[in-house]
Amino acid sequence: AKSSGRNNYQFYEKEMNAMTGQRLALEHDLWSALENNEFFLNYQPQIDLESGRIIGVEALIRWLHPKRGLISPMDFIPLAEHNGLIIPIGNWVLQTACRQIKELHHSGLPPLRVAVNLSARQLGEKNFIPMVRETLHLTGIDPSCLELELTESMVMQNVEDVIDVLNALNDMQIQLSLDDFGTGFSSLAYLKRFPIDRLKIDQSFIFNCDSDPDDAIISQTIIALAHGLKIKVIAEGVERSEHMDFLKKNGCDEGQGYFIGRPLAFEDLRSLLYQRHLH
Ligand code: C2E
Ligand code: CA
Ligand code: CA
Ligand code: CA
Repeated sequence: AKSSGRNNYQFYEKEMNAMTGQRLALEHDLWSALENNEFFLNYQPQIDLESGRIIGVEALIRWLHPKRGLISPMDFIPLAEHNGLIIPIGNWVLQTACRQIKELHHSGLPPLRVAVNLSARQLGEKNFIPMVRETLHLTGIDPSCLELELTESMVMQNVEDVIDVLNALNDMQIQLSLDDFGTGFSSLAYLKRFPIDRLKIDQSFIFNCDSDPDDAIISQTIIALAHGLKIKVIAEGVERSEHMDFLKKNGCDEGQGYFIGRPLAFEDLRSLLYQRHLH
């Protein structure tokens, strides 16, 4: 038994080293991914639930690794947050999203909102506001067409500093939304102090909102909370028609999810918007 325990341990250690090695290799490749143009953005439609119209998109980063193929942001964003590369990568995401949205406006499509995900480190970077200003200036997009998605956890660090940054962004007419709402630990009192325009109900509550009474009451309560505070509410992870029915019945403003539309390459988004615009 003793020796097999030892073998297990050695096996475990080997596995762990292999995993750490893989992680290191990935982190190493991340350093050159930007200059090698290996990132691109997908855009997932967001609709107004009443009219069914596409009113916005969420920009989602993708990494096409030359050897490993497509790598999920869930696997490389944490690495980039850890080694600081999230700053140049985050700048690239913001600049690319604004440039591509401007391109859509130029081709005669009605103005569309683009939501960009932020990491905590970006918000804490002292050059963040000037960078955002510069990006708006260079692309010429209307600031109200840009939405920044924050998570509850990032909003909890250095509350006073965060409030200053959020107020500055809000004053610039940029929209702010609170992502994965309901999964974090932040006090509801913060909602009163942050200039938030939109709450995003986390997909974990939407998944069974039509069958699980607990998820139903949580979703209904978030909708009521948002509306009571005069902010909009969007549901993510809308995967089935039952989700749509539930959300419409309960007065949710907007929705996003596979039932409404998958994340699309930029050219596919453009085609979809043209089609919808002509009909
Ligand atoms: P998120 O912000 O919660 O984004 C929503 C995720 O849910 C996306 O995964 C999207 O593809 C997926 N999704 C959309 N509709 C559905 C649905 O109906 N059902 C299910 N099960 N999933 C759906 P994705 O693209 O893999 O992104 C994962 C996470 O990576 C994002 O979660 C976000 O936290 C992060 N991320 C993505 N792009 C960026 C970025 O540019 N910057 C930063 N900092 N984080 C990013
Ligand atoms: Ca998001
Ligand atoms: Ca605002
Ligand atoms: Ca989310």
